[in-house]
Amino acid sequence: MIFIYGRKKAKIKKTTDHIGTCTTCNSIGLEFEIFRDYFHLFWIPLFPVGDKESRVYCTKCGKPNNFNPRVKHFESVTSTPIYLYSGVLIFLMLIGTLVITNINTQKEKALFVADPKVGDVYLIRKDVNDSTYYYFLRVARTQGDTVIVYPNAFQYFSFVYKLNDEDYFVTQEFFFTKNELKELLEKGEINGVDRDYDDSYGFNRVKDLDTDSLRFSP
Ligand SMILES: [Zn+2]
Repeated sequence: MIFIYGRKKAKIKKTTDHIGTCTTCNSIGLEFEIFRDYFHLFWIPLFPVGDKESRVYCTKCGKPNNFNPRVKHFESVTSTPIYLYSGVLIFLMLIGTLVITNINTQKEKALFVADPKVGDVYLIRKDVNDSTYYYFLRVARTQGDTVIVYPNAFQYFSFVYKLNDEDYFVTQEFFFTKNELKELLEKGEINGVDRDYDDSYGFNRVKDLDTDSLRFSP
């Protein structure tokens, strides 16, 4: 991908001043133009750079009057328009959206773990020495404060969000209390919680431990 970027100049104010006199023709009436450079990416202004610059012309004879003492005044009262910060604003909005999405995901995980439903799938992340592996647990049933889960057959050595096509859950029961699950979530070992997934995730494939036959759970 080719990035087109660079520095451009924006005219941020144009005004006529009736105080100064032209150094060439002595008539009253000077036009001030204030500029600000900005850095752009694909012509989208990212942020302003450098100081403001001014050009001053006589409205009568058109000659430049760039050294008029009013220049400093007009530069100081002209604020840089917000659109010259577009890139920075877009970037901050993206970060904000990501943060909010993440907060919502964390909240949802906590709600799901606090109130498990049959079929909920936990992605478990284990850090052992220098390596990390993942596996899944599927809620088989709940009994009071106890949550009974089935593990899946495979282990994964990179982040996953669904079962491998050959993978499945095994009807081997593991018991957790809701508090233990909560602790696993707080430790980050429960990396993700899925509910209301569709078949493409493979979470509905459950194999009986004793019969070795593959059945599909609701
Ligand atoms: Zn003039």
